[in-house]
Amino acid sequence: MQPVTEIFPLLAQHKNVVITFHQKPDADAMGSALGLYHFLKQLGHTVTVISPTNWAGFLSWMPGCKKVLDYEMQTVKATAALNDAEWLFCLDFNTMDRTRKMSEILTRLSCTKILIDHHQQPQVEAFNYGISDVTKSSTSEMVYDFIKDAGYADKINVNVAECLYAGVMTDTGSFRFTSTSASVHRMVADLKDHGLEHSQVHENLYDNFLESRFRFFGHVLLNRMEVFYEYNTALIAIPQADLIKFNVKTGDTEGLVNFPLSIHGIKLASIIIDRGDERKSSFRSKGGFDVNTFARKYFNGGGHFNASGGKNTEPLEVVVQKFKEAIKESKEQLSSY
Ligand code: 5GP
Ligand code: MN
Repeated sequence: MQPVTEIFPLLAQHKNVVITFHQKPDADAMGSALGLYHFLKQLGHTVTVISPTNWAGFLSWMPGCKKVLDYEMQTVKATAALNDAEWLFCLDFNTMDRTRKMSEILTRLSCTKILIDHHQQPQVEAFNYGISDVTKSSTSEMVYDFIKDAGYADKINVNVAECLYAGVMTDTGSFRFTSTSASVHRMVADLKDHGLEHSQVHENLYDNFLESRFRFFGHVLLNRMEVFYEYNTALIAIPQADLIKFNVKTGDTEGLVNFPLSIHGIKLASIIIDRGDERKSSFRSKGGFDVNTFARKYFNGGGHFNASGGKNTEPLEVVVQKFKEAIKESKEQLSSY
């Protein structure tokens, strides 16, 4: 993978561009992609954004979101755009398998592939150019740097600003996590100077849920959460029947894992959800417990030091048992606070 700076001189020439990101995109994946989309459109490129799967309703306010193709639902159109692509930007993921069914075609394409990402252990051999920086708060911050470093600071307009702000704000836990550097605050100040109305973005993202989501949260916090004080750990294991009963939609479980993390003394918070086709897990930690390694070792996953996820094919009870064994094996690290 060559440094991403090498494509800066080529940005002025018109290209067919596809931008993609990880399955079930969060606000950083969607925001960084649409921020880049609004930038590249101004340079005259033909740009298509493709999501590997569907996405949460709370992202649909983002400017340009209605034009995003869902690979699973619009496979023919998305495949045609991919086959025509001269440049493929891969944002907010480290390995091709994070794009689910799209992974095969992405690997097979012979166009120029560019990675912009902040996850650990990227599959660098799969990309021609790129930047992978785990110290960055978000991919949205990296797209902001990309635009500025390429010499196009004047192209940051309100659309770019809203999309990038959504990504950096959510990936930093509203500017709370240690990744929130002085540069992040400087970036936000600059976005404000370009017309960003940040409180509107918060409202669009966080004040648009249905009552059933909160009933669901109440139910799982009361009935599905186990706290293992010996290991400073909490787990919420959710059977598929709960998702059906409360009509849980894509994105509704986002943020749930943070509740147990706010219990006094809890260093590892986890949720395991039976999604039918797989058991999807999320891990969050505080301080020195490395959930990237934890997710890799036991749950076929990965991510960041303090936030990771994974997936298993075994039944929920088996994955929960596996989790209990995993925390036992990690007892020394989990109880040494
Ligand atoms: P979340 O819990 O919000 O789904 O994901 C937290 C972090 O872990 C994200 O940065 C995400 O990219 C990463 N992650 C989540 N699920 C997986 C997975 O199945 N595999 C890998 N490699 N990373 C994951
Ligand atoms: Mn991200």
